[in-house]
Amino acid sequence: MQKGNIGITTENIFPVIKKFLYSDHEIFLRELVSNAVDATQKLKTLSRRGETTGELGDLTVRVKADPKKHTLTISDRGIGMTAEEVDKYINQIAFSGANEFLEKYKDDAAAIIGHFGLGFYSAFMVAKRVDIYSLSYQEGAKGVHWTCDGSPAFEMEDCDKADRGTDIVLHLDDESHEFAEERKVLELLKKYCRFLPVPVACGKKKEWKDGKETETEEDNVVNVTEPLWTKAPSSLKDDDYKAFYRELYPMTDEPLFWIHLNVDYPFNLTGVLYFPKIKSNLEVHRDRIQLYCNQVYVTDHVENIVPDFLTLLHGVIDSPDIPLNVSRSYLQSDANVKKISTYIEKKVADRLAQIFKDNRTEFEEKWDDLKLFIHYGMLSQEDFYDRAKKFALFKDTEGKHFSYDEYRDLIKGEQTDKDGTVVYLYAQNRDEQYTYIDAARAKGYSVLMMDGQLDAPLVGLLEQKIEKSRFVRVDSDTIDRLIPKSDAEEVKLSQEQSHRLTQAFRSRLPKVEKKEFHVETTAMGAEGAPIVLVQSEYMRRMKEMSQIQAGMAFYGEMPDMYSMMLNTDHPLMKQVLSAMPAEQLEKAEGEVKGLQARKAAIEAAQSKKKADEITDDEKAELTTCNEQIAEAEKQRDQLIDSEAAKQEIIPQLIDLALLQNGLLKGEALAKFVKRSISLL
Ligand code: ADP
Repeated sequence: MQKGNIGITTENIFPVIKKFLYSDHEIFLRELVSNAVDATQKLKTLSRRGETTGELGDLTVRVKADPKKHTLTISDRGIGMTAEEVDKYINQIAFSGANEFLEKYKDDAAAIIGHFGLGFYSAFMVAKRVDIYSLSYQEGAKGVHWTCDGSPAFEMEDCDKADRGTDIVLHLDDESHEFAEERKVLELLKKYCRFLPVPVACGKKKEWKDGKETETEEDNVVNVTEPLWTKAPSSLKDDDYKAFYRELYPMTDEPLFWIHLNVDYPFNLTGVLYFPKIKSNLEVHRDRIQLYCNQVYVTDHVENIVPDFLTLLHGVIDSPDIPLNVSRSYLQSDANVKKISTYIEKKVADRLAQIFKDNRTEFEEKWDDLKLFIHYGMLSQEDFYDRAKKFALFKDTEGKHFSYDEYRDLIKGEQTDKDGTVVYLYAQNRDEQYTYIDAARAKGYSVLMMDGQLDAPLVGLLEQKIEKSRFVRVDSDTIDRLIPKSDAEEVKLSQEQSHRLTQAFRSRLPKVEKKEFHVETTAMGAEGAPIVLVQSEYMRRMKEMSQIQAGMAFYGEMPDMYSMMLNTDHPLMKQVLSAMPAEQLEKAEGEVKGLQARKAAIEAAQSKKKADEITDDEKAELTTCNEQIAEAEKQRDQLIDSEAAKQEIIPQLIDLALLQNGLLKGEALAKFVKRSISLL
């Protein structure tokens, strides 16, 4: 019998420490089954190369749980180990036996899992003692038994082992007895070993007989040895991809499209990514990409491996070139990981571009389910924007789709303003903005539907990216001013007349909670509506952004600001004006004018002097003048107000405008109905 200490030196202490970095104890099973699969694959390689002549026989890896003895045994019929090899590979844990093997069989050993470094020793996370019984495939080899209780001390001796391969027996520690329950073991195998390339069996298949579950003779194989992504794309049909998707995510809608990834240079990567339907909630769709390393499950947290927006995709990525068991922050700076991430992003964009080109109808049909994903990518990854701008779509209020270039060509004739900026009109709610959409379309303009979750930030991005462009919501100004074609037309009213009108309407404005109205006059043609309510594009956008961006809550608190545009060309406005007592008003306005002239004269005289030369009397004179102006204005406005109070047409017009914008509710609405009836 040989006794000794496992060779822990400064060079190999590192992997031992790493063992404790595994946060999930359960991964020990993945490591041990991987080693068993690895040993089996090595044997197959040797056999293929004619370096062993023996029968391969049944190569199934078996996992056996014994809840009575609290043991778990993993057996394989792979290459096995000689005593020297156990000494070299297990005792000298700094060595990685796989490295040496890979070096020798560089070209055809790609399928070998030699990646996890410290695999075997993870057994001690759950076991108080581990036995290895092994018989090497080599002719004349003797069986070897190794045992260790987790301390650096081990014992090794010859033993009788009839069958080629290795049994690893874990004597579970008291906290880990659950791993001797077949149910628990099966659960772990389903998670980590579902797609391993060699059959892995645990227990026997069960079947329902006479209302009871009974064991059959058949091995219960837990894995699919040739999962879809390992097959040649040319051998697969759409139904195969759909079936695999259902297998991975049983309760999910059918995917929109998929991509089969397959590269071997400059890094190795295979996999299948699916585009799911993403209607609204961005969060629920994450964590649906599974990362594998040579068919061994590693994680479903791929957020440091692919750009954030790609985590919305579903499917499988399999690459031996992604370093595992390293810190997450390290991953992001790893050169291979960066290359892989860029590659996947490009493939995703290429696939979308291809469908756009070859099957535009299908692409348009699926656009609504796809756009959130694409927009998120465009907003978060500059290089994705550059690719996606060729296939991203706009949808107009009629439901027609356009590429960005097509749309610009369509609107640039009609919708270029006097400064040469192309104005993109959009609506966010077809019903609420109906009249404005209607007016814009009547004018020959096109209106886009921008009702998606990410459309608000997207509009901001597109304004930056598309030269000479501006986006405005259809109700953000009067139709003539949305796309100013020549310098704004003069309002034909005098300043006084304009004031009479705005003051009259102001005096009869109702209070609407969290809304503010600013009254203005403008000429919109005798055919236009008498009053149009518009909402400043800028303020509205700020409020929208405040809902998705922290730190902008301030805007969210502010009331909605509307401009109430009075159409001075409209006969009803003219009627309101002409009903006012002209003589009295002119007198009051003359008063204000006279005082303002005096104020201007005083200010002109004072502006010639230095600040300290102005006497107290002169200062007092200005103050008095200001007070007189305020008083005169008040008199004038009272005149207007008392006149406005008589004209029921004013609140009627205001209410109609509010009604059209869904702002007339409750008591105000009841009043309006009453007034309407009496006016009839
Ligand atoms: P790694 O798998 O990264 O090499 P391990 O600690 O898991 O690290 O295993 C060390 C070495 O021990 C393996 O490379 C292999 O040579 C040998 N080994 C482990 N398990 C088995 C097994 N079931 N059959 C044959 N050899 C094994």
